[in-house]
Amino acid sequence: MEKVAIVTGGSRGIGKAIVESLARKNIKVIANYNKSEDKAKKLQEDLKKENIFIDIFKADVSKRKEIREMVDYTINKYGKIDILVNNAGIDQEKMFQDITDEDWDNIVKVNLYSVFCTTQEAIKYMLNQKDGCIINISSIYGINGGSCAVAYSATKAGIDGMTKALAKELGPSNIRVNSIAPGYINTDMNQRYSDEEVKQIKEETPLVKIGKPEDIAKCIEWLVEDDFTTGQVISINGGWAI
Ligand code: NAP
Repeated sequence: MEKVAIVTGGSRGIGKAIVESLARKNIKVIANYNKSEDKAKKLQEDLKKENIFIDIFKADVSKRKEIREMVDYTINKYGKIDILVNNAGIDQEKMFQDITDEDWDNIVKVNLYSVFCTTQEAIKYMLNQKDGCIINISSIYGINGGSCAVAYSATKAGIDGMTKALAKELGPSNIRVNSIAPGYINTDMNQRYSDEEVKQIKEETPLVKIGKPEDIAKCIEWLVEDDFTTGQVISINGGWAI
């Protein structure tokens, strides 16, 4: 049977490109969404025109109950989970002194707790299978830190720590765990940057270009195929942070 993948935050941006690329590789994809139901339905319809069928599933990944429902749906329909891509995330631009407890709790829940929780629910099945591939989308800010993005950077560094520790724990069960830490990728998340700021990032980037969601999807395709890479943080950033 084909491989089965859950991609969180799969209806737009980087997640959408990941869903498209995995689905075109004949993988059964459950594309998770929370608020963007219209976009999830459109993605499903567009792929159907290519004779590719994906499942879409609404779940707020900051809530264990909803994650469990998504994992149960996947198991009831396909009987297994081979690939988990923890992609859903939010950013937060604030001066450190202005971050409230509520801001902190919210971003930690959506960006970090979600990875803990979704992974915990999914690996129950991967452990039985003695096979699995988990890919977490962290960020270059988790490696280098981003000014006015302390909480965001902390969650992304947390993801990378979780990736390395879990890779050690799950390696003997043939479950690989890796992070992809993107640099600047052109999605809704970065719409707040002015044209001037984007131009500056481009000029600071050795490859003199801005990343596309497909650049991340290509790395996911490779990680899914590979069987000797685990515990790595792969930063795809055009050389922005060498
Ligand atoms: P985006 O366009 O803003 O998309 C964010 C995605 O996360 C959406 O699909 C959204 O789904 C989902 N999401 C947010 N909160 C959720 C929740 N509570 N439950 C379920 N899904 C939720 O951002 P993006 O650029 O594609 O980012 C994807 C990932 O890459 C994020 O983890 C981000 O931190 C990381 N990243 C991005 C960049 C970049 O430059 N773009 C750089 C480094 C890392 P709904 O719309 O359905 O709510």
